[in-house]
Amino acid sequence: MCGIVGYIGKRNAYQILIQGLHRLEYRGYDSSGVAMIAENGEMNIYKAKGKVDALEHYASNKDLSGNIGIAHTRWATHGEPNDVNAHPHFSQSRNLALVHNGTIENYSVLKEALSQQGYEFVSETDTEVVVQLIEYIMQTNACSLFEAVREAAKQVVGAYAIAVIEKSNPDRIIAARQSSPLVIGVGEDDFFLASDATPIIEYTNKVVYLNDGEIAVIDRTEGLNVYDINSNDESQICITELKMSIEELEKGGYPHFMLKEIFEQPKTLTDCISGRISADGSQIVLSGVIEHKEKFLNANRVIIVACGTSWHAALIGKHLIEDFCRIPVEVAYASEFRYCNPVVREGDVLIALSQSGETADTLAALELAKSRGAFVFGICNVIGSSIPRATHSGCYIHVGPEIGVASTKAFTGQVTVLAMMALLVGQMKGLVSDEKLQKVASDIRRVPALIQKIFEMNDKIENLAKIFTYAHNFLYLGRGYNFPSALEGALKLKEISYIHAEGYPAAEMKHGTIALIDNDMPSVVIAIKDNVYEKTVSNIQQVKARGGKVVAIVTEGDEIVASLADYVLEVPEISECLTPLLTAIPMQLLAYYIAVNKGRNVDQPRNLAKSVTVE
Ligand code: GLU
Repeated sequence: MCGIVGYIGKRNAYQILIQGLHRLEYRGYDSSGVAMIAENGEMNIYKAKGKVDALEHYASNKDLSGNIGIAHTRWATHGEPNDVNAHPHFSQSRNLALVHNGTIENYSVLKEALSQQGYEFVSETDTEVVVQLIEYIMQTNACSLFEAVREAAKQVVGAYAIAVIEKSNPDRIIAARQSSPLVIGVGEDDFFLASDATPIIEYTNKVVYLNDGEIAVIDRTEGLNVYDINSNDESQICITELKMSIEELEKGGYPHFMLKEIFEQPKTLTDCISGRISADGSQIVLSGVIEHKEKFLNANRVIIVACGTSWHAALIGKHLIEDFCRIPVEVAYASEFRYCNPVVREGDVLIALSQSGETADTLAALELAKSRGAFVFGICNVIGSSIPRATHSGCYIHVGPEIGVASTKAFTGQVTVLAMMALLVGQMKGLVSDEKLQKVASDIRRVPALIQKIFEMNDKIENLAKIFTYAHNFLYLGRGYNFPSALEGALKLKEISYIHAEGYPAAEMKHGTIALIDNDMPSVVIAIKDNVYEKTVSNIQQVKARGGKVVAIVTEGDEIVASLADYVLEVPEISECLTPLLTAIPMQLLAYYIAVNKGRNVDQPRNLAKSVTVE
């Protein structure tokens, strides 16, 4: 969470920093700020509570000169979101300014020690301790900023990506990371710094991903040098060329990124499948799996760790892998797994599922499993992010940048990759026949066109949303492959409309939740023609008998459910294991339109941020 931007070069830093903050605003939007060393040599720091627009408004009549600067958009962890707690933070002498993404766990001990040395703190953040500590080290050791940052990095415990500038040396930025992401863009005669590549891509496609435990010196004349924090050895700089285009980062005429990303799914899933399923559907190629075939063939079990929407995709992955590969699968919340002393052994395959590839808990969970001998495999979207770099192997979902905080296209991308993996491993184990593989793989290839067809219901869903805009609660019910879909449908509604919603296995409802059903409690029931169809029909009857309103998601042409439910949304027929890819779409649209009707900020819902890089 939080976005860091930095610039050093010949251009005006402010414009680049502000534009970068807009691009990173999806990572946090409690407050934002910039620090620049102006033409007159002063360090100017401007900060404002709220969105980046508020910062721009505040800074509009100020000195915006300078060609070196750092900036930050915050997702508060320590101290409420206000002007004072906003980053950048200064050191006592105001010679240093620092931005930080992450959390410093030993900040209170350090703060106490620094207070005893006469340091005064103005904010409630953990971050301010870091900048004061760096200054303290510079003064007591009479050392350079680089040496002081390196020493401070050894003393702080926790997660950080930091960037620091020094008023008395306007020719360098020092940056360091441990567990939080940082990318350096290498321009013609300038350098960019950011939490992810999105602010950089419009200036250069050449980037360097800083590794954990590294410190970078970005110097106007000496260029970029990277060192290991502990050993001080110089690291080899590896420049990656990005393929991302600027159009992928724009709304492209849609009112919100979320709506654009919902409608993009036929294309993003085509990209996800591209080159991985042969034209006739007879062959699946996932090199990350094939190159480590033995690990999958000999796996005692699979553990999938994830958070949020990815956790729902993981539950679908469990069905897929158990169905096709007959390997037992456990799905764990990464935040629980990492602290519950899990039993992990050699012979286990751990799959880490994360859109951003930076989710702090998921990263820690995979490191733990790796240390206990598991083979770790990543399924992520952001190329070059921390999880793919920490795993033995993996598969990207290739759905392009997801900017809307509520995940849509990443969810369908994850399920698609899990389906391809399960089929491939099942075939390698001799459990999936060639015919079966060809049938399901060909169906995967049909998914983009079928989603396009579902979009024909867009107006219908928009109208349906008007009926339910003022509901206070919602139930989402589903079974089998579509129980996780129900969880995901409920989460979409909760996170962007702030309506309370619960996902539930449809049959389990009668063991308690049914007590909630009345005229004011609508239920979305996923009742497609699967192996429990008749049972789900009974569950709908149970809801109707208690006066509940039912929106049913059904297989095209279903007249039975149509005669029972109040409203029906049809999805085309497809292999049962792929139905979550289709049932997700009407639920995404329903949540979107309800949230819009309620006037919510769909792309930046309150209290949330996109990639959760803190615990
Ligand atoms: N822990 C810091 C704060 O609360 C940084 C949070 C972030 O990553 O945005 O200010």
